[in-house]
Amino acid sequence: MDKNLNFDEIKKRRTFAIISHPDAGKTTLTEKFLLYGGAIKLAGSVKGRKTAKYAVSDWMEIEKERGISVSSSVMQFNFDGYCINILDTPGHQDFSEDTYRTLMAADSAVMVIDGGKGVEAQTIKLFKVCVMRKIPIFTFINKFDREAKDPFELLDDIESVLGIRTCPINWPVGCGKRFKGVYDRRKKHMLLFKAAQAGMKEVETNELSLDAIQTVIEKDFYDKLIEDMELLDGASDELDMDKVSAGELSPVFFGSALTNFGVETFLKYFLNMTTSPIGRNANGRIIDPMKDSFFSAFVFKIQANMNKAHRDRIAFIRICSGKYIPGMEVYHFQGNKKIRINQSTQMMADERKIVEEAYAGDIIGVFDSGIFSIGDTLCADGEKIQFEGIPTFAPGYFARVRQIDTMKRKQFTKGVYQIAQEGAIQIFQEFNTGMEEIIVGVVGELQFEVLTYRLKSEYNVEVKLDRLPYEHIRWIENPLEVDIDKIQGTSDMKKIKDLKDRPLLIFINPWSIRMVEERNPKLRLSEFGRD
Ligand code: GDP
Repeated sequence: MDKNLNFDEIKKRRTFAIISHPDAGKTTLTEKFLLYGGAIKLAGSVKGRKTAKYAVSDWMEIEKERGISVSSSVMQFNFDGYCINILDTPGHQDFSEDTYRTLMAADSAVMVIDGGKGVEAQTIKLFKVCVMRKIPIFTFINKFDREAKDPFELLDDIESVLGIRTCPINWPVGCGKRFKGVYDRRKKHMLLFKAAQAGMKEVETNELSLDAIQTVIEKDFYDKLIEDMELLDGASDELDMDKVSAGELSPVFFGSALTNFGVETFLKYFLNMTTSPIGRNANGRIIDPMKDSFFSAFVFKIQANMNKAHRDRIAFIRICSGKYIPGMEVYHFQGNKKIRINQSTQMMADERKIVEEAYAGDIIGVFDSGIFSIGDTLCADGEKIQFEGIPTFAPGYFARVRQIDTMKRKQFTKGVYQIAQEGAIQIFQEFNTGMEEIIVGVVGELQFEVLTYRLKSEYNVEVKLDRLPYEHIRWIENPLEVDIDKIQGTSDMKKIKDLKDRPLLIFINPWSIRMVEERNPKLRLSEFGRD
């Protein structure tokens, strides 16, 4: 136990992930948050990985740079008495299992939606993971300075596509060229829209009471607002914070990240409504960061250093209780060993710095000589706890992989195993045969190219990839209760097993999954694999 632990440090922490479909405005919003936190003087300096289509080799260079810092993965800043950790969820084509895993380290999520487009495909996938974790989800509907969909339609969209209730905290008046501002339903005042100097500086706010705005905005906008408020007051959900905490109700905000409009209001409400770091399950009990003062953490991401001369890696850990100081000795549960953790760097907006101390809620990158796997627990010596494992997420792309030069079998297997250990790919085998054939599953297609590139450059092995038509995977949750050989399958189903010999089914068509469930009533299938 650490008797000197300052719980106030933990209480003021907020750790969240920002999720969005590419181009919805995640980078822009993050930038504006940092601006308010004073972490950067002028917005525009966050090096967002943009939408440009990178060649794989370019992407690798970026990864190499990233490999030595926590830079684009976590940003910490202070605002309004809070210490905020924003976790970046990579989007675009480098979308991979890491994106999902990052959500395992967050205590809440901010979902950015493009007001002109509504809910998009990528948001759905990420959102499912938030739902599984039952973490609070806050919605920022962006780009109201442009033509946007009707706000009621946007709420309907979130509710029907994502299956979560919504509660608008503020409400837009007009959009695009005729965007007047947002009305705060709780404070009952309107924030008049005024774009900051090209969205660069903090915007001046101009708040008006409902009466006062009558004189400022045109009558048709005013009447529409009154009508909308009546509709909302009658029909929308009340702000029930228990439901928000359970991830059943999402508080919704409207604004425009680019012009910095509505961002500060959102940030303030959000910080106020979210909680300090939440507890995590270990050995059947919750490790509570506000009560348990010993250090504990789990590994949620491993970043390889792609430099052949330096095979070291960075393990990203989420601290769950207590305090970290450099060089501290901890117990690594999975390795059953005491180790010293060190060499962590953290990003404060633009500059990398050595972390002097970190608390529950914080994410740090620790030096890993190759001993960690995703989901591993680190804790103060003497505690010997084990956090619940991180689920394996369903890959949607599969390929058969083999080395071209059969003499290089050893390097091939080693490379594939190591890359799988980092969590970039998942490996499977045919159900009834040995290791001759390796089937690789990935969450994002780009990972196939990454695999081929890395095997060649780091392990000197050329491989051939044959894509398989399967797109859906299900873990069998009760393999001991069913006879795997006798499963009544469909013609597009294939049985495979993972490295722990656990049986899985892969399918070409989604409807076959239901059919197999109907034909085999005893079979229990799951979209996530658990250790
Ligand atoms: P990300 O892919 O989700 O990180 O999206 P970005 O933040 O990179 O934004 C994508 C594009 O949308 C960029 O060109 C931004 O300038 C633009 N954008 C972001 N927010 C807004 C907004 O509120 N209004 C308008 N008009 N454009 C925006």
